[in-house]
Amino acid sequence: MSLLVATGNKGKLHEFRSLLTGLRIRTPDDVRLGNLYVEETGDTFYDNALLKAKAYATASGLLSVADDSGLEVDALGGRPGVQSARYGGRELDDSGRYRHLLAELIDVPPEARTARFRCCLVVFSPDGRLVTAEGTCEGRILMRPSGEGGFGYDPVFLVPAYGRSMAALSRSEKSAISHRGRALRSLLPVLTETFPALLSN
Ligand code: IMP
Repeated sequence: MSLLVATGNKGKLHEFRSLLTGLRIRTPDDVRLGNLYVEETGDTFYDNALLKAKAYATASGLLSVADDSGLEVDALGGRPGVQSARYGGRELDDSGRYRHLLAELIDVPPEARTARFRCCLVVFSPDGRLVTAEGTCEGRILMRPSGEGGFGYDPVFLVPAYGRSMAALSRSEKSAISHRGRALRSLLPVLTETFPALLSN
């Protein structure tokens, strides 16, 4: 039995692969669903993850896992939240989005720049069974970007435990503390208990 990871985001795919070792992972490209587009119309991370997992499971007939994740900044009342991928306008790229965020926070001092990444995972089976998990990672928004790795808002997200931005962490350092790493580690036992055939490749 294989698990379809319902994302085209290369950064996320890499994190899924490294944390779900032992499972047979398929990507949308592997099953000719590279062009499937799911409109994220939900009001919560859970709603959007469910929309994506359901769409991919229905289109592929495979057990599918989707994540919806984003950044919640306290000084902005929790924004960008579910809008993280579209924050500042659909035309912006990752660096355009974090620059927009830095501009919005220009007058906010370091101690008030608290934020967290949140990740909600939904696994949907074509027979209707559902498994979910959530993970968060607390930190602060830096005054300027630093680090070369990761993706999205990583260059402006300070991880207090390391004293460095998320983009300055190695992949294994990020996995150990990230919202997606935490969500995937709590998902794995429930997932394999619900779908034991995942372990017999
Ligand atoms: P999604 O694809 O709708 O879940 O959008 C998530 C958005 O949140 C991404 O486009 C990123 O901007 C941001 N995001 C989610 N996870 C991370 C992460 O691990 N690092 C940096 N940004 C992230």
